[in-house]
Amino acid sequence: MSDYILAKQNGRKIPLEDKIFGISNRAKKMIAEEGKDKVINATIGSLLDDDGNLVVLSSVVEVVKELEPVDFADYAPIGGIPPFREAVKKAAFGSFQPKRFTEAVSTPGGTGSIRNTIANYSSPGDKILTSDWHWAPYNTIAGEMGRSIDTYQMFDENGNFNAAAFAKKVDELTAVQGSLVVILNTPAHNPTGYSLTMEDWEQVMQAVKTAAPKAESIVLLVDVAYIDFAGDEEEYRKFLPKLEDVPENVLPIIAYSLSKTYTLYGTRCGAMICMAQTPEIAAEFKRVCEFSSRGSWSNSAKLAQVILSKIYKDPALLKRVNEERAGYREMLIRRGRAFEEEAKKCGLKIVPFDAGFFVSIPCDNPDEISKKLEADGLFIVPLAKGLRVSVASISEASCRKLPAMIKAAMAE
Ligand code: PLP
Repeated sequence: MSDYILAKQNGRKIPLEDKIFGISNRAKKMIAEEGKDKVINATIGSLLDDDGNLVVLSSVVEVVKELEPVDFADYAPIGGIPPFREAVKKAAFGSFQPKRFTEAVSTPGGTGSIRNTIANYSSPGDKILTSDWHWAPYNTIAGEMGRSIDTYQMFDENGNFNAAAFAKKVDELTAVQGSLVVILNTPAHNPTGYSLTMEDWEQVMQAVKTAAPKAESIVLLVDVAYIDFAGDEEEYRKFLPKLEDVPENVLPIIAYSLSKTYTLYGTRCGAMICMAQTPEIAAEFKRVCEFSSRGSWSNSAKLAQVILSKIYKDPALLKRVNEERAGYREMLIRRGRAFEEEAKKCGLKIVPFDAGFFVSIPCDNPDEISKKLEADGLFIVPLAKGLRVSVASISEASCRKLPAMIKAAMAE
């Protein structure tokens, strides 16, 4: 039986099931048949506590409980309610005050921001550039609109960010296409956990500035879905001023998501925020993105927009939310460190890791290895270039156990 449905009308090949949800379902089945203690499900992309329950910030839940029916039942304006548009800029930028012209347009999660950026700043047939290790839905989002993803090798042979490979691709694609959308997922990249260093940023911006004079436009989409789970909020926003030092035809866009930061995954809330050199470019951004929203999901859900607006109206509440999240972030960071330490001890090579929900292991036969591990009750995700472990969904004790199990399966 084929793994795909072939759409006769347009030749699209659609996988029979979403890979990650498929594995997760097999893990759930094994738990039901053999018991919870026999299974480690390291596939889930949400933060779970050590007992496998979803972490939901209680300070955010308090706000939910106080909502009025109109706060969630009513339509929001297409681009978002005004206080949300202001609040989300503060949430994304922290204490950084951009000198460029910013506009925020609400989207259903960070996913919506990625969709709208590709829809408006590339043409059908174009290639969208991201790293070889990347979040698989980028391919789906681009493919749904007749675009595709092209990649550069993210790390060189010494395990450093491969700025030369990045620059080469930016140059090549702008020469062929005229305009280019680049997706950078940092800090705490999915699936590797890597965060671009300030030196990496320097080189990224240099490459973009070198290509810009020959390009019609370059859009730098910074997907910051995990920014508040990487470490200190201010420290991990230090790259933001670097985005301002670009010519007029380079437009940085921040894809911001409330899914992880406010544990509001299911409310589908995020925003795309532009950093434009002129008010005209910012106004155009707002108009085209709202237009695109209208033609895809129409209005974004109002509920989480009201929640964020209320949080940013009340400094004491904002402080509590940030403090509560910081506690869980520490838990997540401990798990990542534990995995790293044990991997080092047993000689398991991992992809350069800094922080976040995932750790990746380079591997030539990921499907085979993950199948073997599933038989032993360990569920992880095989990717094109290796294996992805979600440290967000397993305990620190499991993080200590896994590297040796994976190493053994790879050695067999
Ligand atoms: N970008 C990356 C790399 C992600 O991993 C995710 C979620 O898993 C998102 C963006 C967007 O998530 P959402 O649409 O739930 O905000």
